[in-house]
Amino acid sequence: MVLTYRYRIKDATTGRHLRRQAREVNRVWNYCGEIHNAARRHNKRRPSGFDLVNLTSGSSKLLGLHSDTVQAVCKQFAISRDACGKRPRWRGRKSLGWIPFQAPRAIRWQGDTVIFLGQRYRLWLSRPIEGKILCGGFGEDSRGRWYLNLQVEVPEDRGHGAGEVGIDLGLKSLVTLSTGQKIEAPRIYRKHERALGIAQRAGRKPRVRAIHAKIANCRKHFLHELSTRLVRENRRICVGNVNSCGLARTRLGKSVLDAGWSQLRSQLHYKAMRHGGEYIEVDERFSTQVCSACGVRGGPQGREGLVVREWSCGGCGVRHDRDINSAINLLVSGRNVGLRQTEIPSLEGGEDVNASPRAS
Ligand SMILES: [Zn+2]
Repeated sequence: MVLTYRYRIKDATTGRHLRRQAREVNRVWNYCGEIHNAARRHNKRRPSGFDLVNLTSGSSKLLGLHSDTVQAVCKQFAISRDACGKRPRWRGRKSLGWIPFQAPRAIRWQGDTVIFLGQRYRLWLSRPIEGKILCGGFGEDSRGRWYLNLQVEVPEDRGHGAGEVGIDLGLKSLVTLSTGQKIEAPRIYRKHERALGIAQRAGRKPRVRAIHAKIANCRKHFLHELSTRLVRENRRICVGNVNSCGLARTRLGKSVLDAGWSQLRSQLHYKAMRHGGEYIEVDERFSTQVCSACGVRGGPQGREGLVVREWSCGGCGVRHDRDINSAINLLVSGRNVGLRQTEIPSLEGGEDVNASPRAS
């Protein structure tokens, strides 16, 4: 499978080279946009990536870019345009720097140094590159730091664990496992909120950007550790398909975005794939309402029901912790998908859940 590795370039070696090249990349990009507009004005078919490459051929020397970069920009322009169905935005001074290249032959390695267009860039080689480099690019973040991004074809390994787990995503405890374990949300945003407010009121934009970047990094680090652990321990991972976009517009918005559900899910997905495990997203509409022991629907409902943390089942009288019960239900319906017993995992019938998950 293909992963993207990201290496920070040491500031001392970036110089002005990357920034200058990024400006020229913007120029190529905007030229593609103008060609697109002109084709539309004259009712001609929209230029393909191949057309754009032909039109820009020979310009790389003049622009001071690698010829591979010019081609990559043209092709990416065509891909982005076809994906959104219209001309992508112009790239200007506010766009973050971006210098793509398609083939690994554009760069040369020398220890922890990469040579691109005759210029040496030293990296923090935070991890060794194992596998074949497919393509890559230089990218800038909002703080003006540069990174080398590499698409690497990595070999799959079968290093997954033996267990199975259902995961209920929540706000108070970020993750509740069907084993009964709860992992608290780190609430990183709330921790930095005060400092952020002070910096914003003082109008110190670099400081604001730095705090935002710190929050994002802390969250990413925490989620990576968590997802790696879960994939190491489990062969099958079942997660509910909570719609975080919908919830983000409610009063819970800040907490929802701070939790990073979708980030965690995508990490679990690709890590499980890489290690030969199984990642299943389950329809979680009824997971909190159905009793995981007998299958009767009687649990708390809707957003008002969120305050109910514990409830007793009307059918069998078992006392449930809301989140753990939900996680067990997710595991059960995820298992059904795994066994191909049902096409659509759903607890709608309520009575279907007769297999007790604790039995196996
Ligand atoms: Zn029950």
